[in-house]
Amino acid sequence: MKHKTVDDILDRALLGYDISPIEGVVLLKQTDPQAIALIQSTADTLRQRQVGDVVTYVINRNINFTNICEQHCSFCAFRRDDGDRGAYWLDWAQILEKATDGVKRGATEICMQGGLNPQAQINGKSLPYYLKLVETIKQEFPQLHLHAFSPQEVQFIARVDGVKYADVITALRDAGVDSMPGTAAEVLDDEVRRVLCPEKIDTATWLEIVSTAHQLGLHTTSTMLSGHIESPEQQIAHLEKLRSLQITAMKNGYPAKITEFILLPFVGQEAPKPLRRRVGRDQPVLSDSLLLTAVARIYLGNWIPNHQPSWVKLGLDGATTALLWGCNDIGGTLMEEHITSMAGAVGGTYMPPETLQNAIASLGRPYQQRNTLYQKH
Ligand code: SF4
Repeated sequence: MKHKTVDDILDRALLGYDISPIEGVVLLKQTDPQAIALIQSTADTLRQRQVGDVVTYVINRNINFTNICEQHCSFCAFRRDDGDRGAYWLDWAQILEKATDGVKRGATEICMQGGLNPQAQINGKSLPYYLKLVETIKQEFPQLHLHAFSPQEVQFIARVDGVKYADVITALRDAGVDSMPGTAAEVLDDEVRRVLCPEKIDTATWLEIVSTAHQLGLHTTSTMLSGHIESPEQQIAHLEKLRSLQITAMKNGYPAKITEFILLPFVGQEAPKPLRRRVGRDQPVLSDSLLLTAVARIYLGNWIPNHQPSWVKLGLDGATTALLWGCNDIGGTLMEEHITSMAGAVGGTYMPPETLQNAIASLGRPYQQRNTLYQKH
C-alpha cells in the first residue's frame, strides 16, 4: 500500500502535475531503498525534461563585507560582536580589491552579503552605507552582475532608517544591485525560526520582501537551510511557500521571479553549542540531503526549474552526486566564503571552473558556464 501510494504520486508528477503538500510529505518520509530509488529516478527524469542534461556553473566571487552582527542566530558561527577576536569589517579599498581579484579571475558575478552591523552607516543612516557598497563595485566594474543583500539585510536597512522595504529595494536596484540572494529563509516556519533565528524576520516578512523585489524587477534566488530541527512537514511547507511565491510572480506578470532553488544542509561543527547539541552531529547526512533534493525537484520543478546543491556544505563529491538527484547546476566558484567555512564545513571555499567542469564531466553530462540569471555563455 505504501509503495502504491509512492508510485501514484510519482506517476502524477511524471504526467506534469504539481504534487500536494501531503504527497510531498509522503515522499520525504520514505525509508525503503526501493521507494527512494524511484523518487531519485523521477527527480532525474523531471530534471532532464524541464532543463535538459547540461549542467551549468557560474564564475563568481563572494564578498562577506563584515561579520559584525547584531543578531545571534543559533546556527551561526560567522557572527562576531565588534571587538571580538576574528571580528572584521572591510573598508572600501578592501572591497574594491576583492572585486578586482574576482574580475581578474573571470567572475561575471559578485555575491555580497554581510552581518547586520549597526555601525555600518553614513551620516547616521544605513541605506547610504549600502549604496556606497554597491557604487564602490559598480563604478569600477559596471559589467559585473551584483547579486547582493538578503531579505534580512533589506529589513535591517529599512528598520534602522525608518523607511519602507520598497524604498530600500528601489534605491539598491537603482544604484546597481542586479539581483538578490534568497537567503535568510532558513526554514519558512515561525516555530522553527523561534529556535533557529529568533531575531530574524519572520516568514511573512521574508515572503513580503522577496515578492516586493520581484514586483520591482529584481530577480531572487530561493534557499532552504535543512537538516537541523525541522520536520518533513515543515520542509514541505517551506517548499510550498516558495512555489506559491513563484506562481504569484508568474501569474501576475511581475518583471522578476525566483531564478533557482538552493538547498543548504546544516553544518554544525563550529555552530553555537546549544543547537549543535540538539542536532547531535556536525556534518550533514548526505542521504537525507539527497532525498530532499529529489523531492524539491519534484515539488518545485514545474515552476522553479533550476536547482543547485551546495558544494560548500556537502563537499564537491556530495554536490556532484546531487546532480543525479534532480540538480542541474553546480553553483559558483565563490573564490572566498566565510559563513559556512567558519561553521566547520569541509567543502572548501574556492572551486576553479576546471574543477567544477571535471566534476560534471565525471557523470558524462555536458557543462556550460552561465551568468547569474541562467543565460548561457
Ligand atoms: S546568520 Fe546572519 S543575521 Fe544571523 S547571526 Fe549570523 S550573520 Fe547575523
